[in-house]
Amino acid sequence: MSGSLCVVTSRIAQGSLRRPAIAKELAKRATRRSFTSFWPTTARAQAQAPAPAQASPEPASITPAPANPAFSHTSPPPPTPPEQHNHIPAKHVAVTIDGHPRTFDTAFLRDSCSCPQCVDPHSKQKLFQTSDIPQDIDAECKAVFDDKNRLLVEIEWKNDIKGYGSDHRTRHSIDWLRRALDTELLLRGAVRHDERVLWDKDRITKDNKWVDYAGWMGQDEVLFDALAHLNKYGLLFLKNVPESEESVVDIAGRIGTLKDTFYGRTWDVRSKQKAENIAYTPQFLGLHMDLLYTSNPPHLQLLHSLRARAPGGESFFSDSFHAAQRLQQKSEFHFRTLCTFPVTYHYHHPTHHYHYTRPTIELYPYPKYSEPTNLAIHRVNWSPPFQGPFEARIGADHQTTLRNYLAAAHAYEKLVSSEENLFEYRLNEGECVIFDNRRVLHARKAFDATKGERWLKGAYVDDDVFFSKLRVLEERYTEQWLADGVVRPVID
Ligand SMILES: [Zn+2]
Repeated sequence: MSGSLCVVTSRIAQGSLRRPAIAKELAKRATRRSFTSFWPTTARAQAQAPAPAQASPEPASITPAPANPAFSHTSPPPPTPPEQHNHIPAKHVAVTIDGHPRTFDTAFLRDSCSCPQCVDPHSKQKLFQTSDIPQDIDAECKAVFDDKNRLLVEIEWKNDIKGYGSDHRTRHSIDWLRRALDTELLLRGAVRHDERVLWDKDRITKDNKWVDYAGWMGQDEVLFDALAHLNKYGLLFLKNVPESEESVVDIAGRIGTLKDTFYGRTWDVRSKQKAENIAYTPQFLGLHMDLLYTSNPPHLQLLHSLRARAPGGESFFSDSFHAAQRLQQKSEFHFRTLCTFPVTYHYHHPTHHYHYTRPTIELYPYPKYSEPTNLAIHRVNWSPPFQGPFEARIGADHQTTLRNYLAAAHAYEKLVSSEENLFEYRLNEGECVIFDNRRVLHARKAFDATKGERWLKGAYVDDDVFFSKLRVLEERYTEQWLADGVVRPVID
C-alpha cells in the first residue's frame, strides 16, 4: 500500500528559508485595523489555526525518507480493481515542509512544471495542455539542492505526457510548494487581505495625497507610493502638470494602456451647445460614476485641469464604500436591498445604445450562514444621471420590492451627499485628479461659462491595467504581490 506513496522529507535549517509568508501575513493581520473578514472572530481564529507555518527549529538534514506508513492516511491509494494486481499509480506526493507532511496531487505537480520543455523560457507560455496529462501518471521524487543551495523536490515521471523523454524532470522548490499551500488555504478561508481605508471628509482631508508630476513621470518609487495610496483611498492628486492636451495621456501612460471609449481615447469636459452628456454643460452634476451602462466600467478616471477661469465648477468626491458601510450600520435591511435590487443604466442615443443592469452594492463571496462585513464590499454602482427605467419588479405584484429600494436609495443618497462625507476641491490649472471610478463618486457644482473658460482633459484606465502595474511595482519594492485578496511572496 505504502509502496505507491512518494515521500520526501525536508527539514528546514533555522533561518535558512524565508519565514513562511502566511505566518507573517496572519501576524500582520492580527494588528492591522483594516482587514476583511466574513466570519465572526472566533470562527476566524479557528480557521487560521491550522495555518502551516513555523520554521522548524530542527537542524538542516535532508532525508529522502522511505515511505512512512504513518503518513499513509494522507494519501489513500485508490481501491484496486480485481483485475489489477501490479503497480498502483501514486495520486499524491507527500512532502515534509517545515516539519509537517503536506500532500500534493501528482497532477498538480506535473501540470505546474516550469522546466524549459514545459514552459517557453521567453514567452512564458505553457507548452502542453492539462488535458495532455495521462490520468495514470505516476511520480517518484527525491530532495535535491539547486546551485544556490536551495532545497528542491525533483520528480521523475512514469507515464508522463506523450512526447516527453525519460530524462524529463520536474523541480519545485520548497518555497514554491509552501506558497502554493498557503495561497490555497487563504483562498479557501475567504479572508481577504484588504488595505482600503474608507474615508469621510475629516479623514481624507488629513490623509489626502499630492504628488509632483515630475516624480510621477520620472521615479518608479514615487509612482509605486502614489498607486498604493490610490488603491487604498481611491483618490489622488497631481500638481505641476504641464499645460498640454497630451499631459493626461502621459500621466495615464505611466500606469499603462488608456481605455478607449466612444467618448474617445481622451475627452474634453467643457461646456458646449446641445451637449450629448450633461458633463458637457455648465449645469450642476450630481454624485455619480462613469459608464455604468457598460459591462466593465473604467476603474480609474483622470481629469487634468487646463482652464479654470470660470467662477464655480468645484469638484466633490464621496467614498461610496464608506457610505455603504454606514448604511449597513444603520439598516441591514436597506443594505441588503441595495445588494439585490436591479438598477438599469443606459446611454441611448441615435448612434450609441448601451444598456446594463446591476445592483447598487456588489459583495465578494462570503461563507454561507455568516454576515457580510462592511469590507466585503467589492463594488458600488451609483449613477443616478445615467439610470434608465427599472425593468424588474415594477408591477403591483412586486410593489414592496420597489418601495424597499426607494427607501434604501433615500437613505443611501443622504449618506453619500452628507456634508461630513463630501470632500470638496476646486481643481486649479496644472492639477490633475485621479480617482477610482468604481468606488469614489464625483460631482461638480455649476459654473458660469459666460465669465471664463473651464476645461478638463479626461482619460480612463481599466482595472486589469492598473492592478498589473501595481503588482509589478509591489514585486519590485516589497517582494510580494496581491491577487484575489491573497498576498503572495515573490519566489525566484
Ligand atoms: Zn517539465
